[in-house]
Amino acid sequence: MIIDAHTHYHASGVLASVFGHLYGHTYGEFKTAKGDDDAHFRLMEERGYDMQIISQPPFTQAHDQTPHIGIGQAKAFNDSMAKGVADSNGRFRFVGSMPLQDIPASVKEMERAKSLGAVGSMLNVDISRRGTGPMPDEEYWYPIYEAASKHDIPLFVHPGSSAMPRHSKYSLALHLGFLFGETEFIAGFIYGKVFEKFPNLKILVSHGGGAIPYQVGRFQASTCPDLKGNKGPRIPIEGDFISNLRKMYFDTCMYSQEGIECLIKVVGPSQVLFGTECPGMGMAKRPDGRSYDNVEDYVRGIDWLTEQQRQDIFCNNAAKFFKIDTAKVGKAAVAAQ
Ligand SMILES: [Zn+2]
Repeated sequence: MIIDAHTHYHASGVLASVFGHLYGHTYGEFKTAKGDDDAHFRLMEERGYDMQIISQPPFTQAHDQTPHIGIGQAKAFNDSMAKGVADSNGRFRFVGSMPLQDIPASVKEMERAKSLGAVGSMLNVDISRRGTGPMPDEEYWYPIYEAASKHDIPLFVHPGSSAMPRHSKYSLALHLGFLFGETEFIAGFIYGKVFEKFPNLKILVSHGGGAIPYQVGRFQASTCPDLKGNKGPRIPIEGDFISNLRKMYFDTCMYSQEGIECLIKVVGPSQVLFGTECPGMGMAKRPDGRSYDNVEDYVRGIDWLTEQQRQDIFCNNAAKFFKIDTAKVGKAAVAAQ
């Protein structure tokens, strides 16, 4: 069984309202809308994915806009995704959206999304889109962390679209902006000792945790005893950087086997969930004629994983993390009806 933990649901009616507000074309009301269900189902059938966990497209989160827009779009996406799940024959679950520019409204919407069946909530790493939003260890986020801990709601960390001027070239907002945001989130969260304050938080970081696995030694060194004659580490935290990193979960949405192998080696197979973000920007053609987001090829190609570890990455880790009953997934659920 394969559960794809990372994909986005393009509910075109809601997208049109968000873009209308963002760019001033129209100011239509936010309403429940149908998404690109058929595109998802076609790809899932071709690739053998039994379930996809859908979430709002990150570039539509509009967290730098007014609370009115944030609340409207979050509610419309949650209602649209709940409808998509209900009509999916067990092939979808959803991660809910929050209007993160308004924290009390976010807590309310997180709880409402859970009542609609959401298996988690999506956390944007920079609500300003310009590098000036609160870092993940700031008190701004505590009500979200408290509510997520209280209701046992996993947080899916996914950047929105960067609006930093230097990221406007070459679509860097998507390529570099995402990775930059994930790297910054992990560093801020661990150095800020958030797990010490909220030990029960369940965190899934998208896109393999940005640059962290590849550069982990540099972060690890900052939390280890200093040999320059100082008394302790430069950044003292409970444990060290890697032991905190291994309390988080990561998805495989990276599009290279080398990257996924590095991630699994650094954090361990128990912390990795299969994720593709397809249909999306990874659908370009590889030299072998397949698509870059045929991520199952990379996971199957890692010869040092045991079959149990591979199955954990494909399915069991996601089922455990999001509390999904695999008897109610895709074809298994339809066959049981
Ligand atoms: Zn994504």
